[in-house]
Amino acid sequence: MKDCIFCKIINNEIPSEKVYEDENILAFEDINPKAPVHILLIPKLHFASLNEIPEDKKGLIGDLLLAAKKIAAQKKIDKKGYRIVLNTGKESGQEVSHVHFHLLGGRRMTWPPG
Ligand code: AMP
Ligand code: ZN
Repeated sequence: MKDCIFCKIINNEIPSEKVYEDENILAFEDINPKAPVHILLIPKLHFASLNEIPEDKKGLIGDLLLAAKKIAAQKKIDKKGYRIVLNTGKESGQEVSHVHFHLLGGRRMTWPPG
């Protein structure tokens, strides 16, 4: 998708610190980390948000979560705990319109989220 910064990251038009990549998924360091570990996981196909993911792509959601689990283990936050966030739409604070999971860890999280 033209003008999407995450599609540009996928196409290497914008640099990123990649931590995981396969045929369908890319994970990279968040440029403005909110925790000692802050990774973004995205599908290589462009969907503006969770709302746009069709039924026939539901496997992608599981793939993204399982990739997050592996990265959590690599980053050694799997035992202590971590948080996965999927902002959807304006009120959630979603700023980038390419669906992405945040993997956050390395510090104590608070609840409820802000
Ligand atoms: P959200 O508010 O859920 O849409 O999250 C968007 C996230 O993308 C924020 O945490 C930003 O810091 C992050 N972000 C924006 N641009 C970049 C970039 N070029 N490389 C890495 N992370 C980015
Ligand atoms: Zn995109």
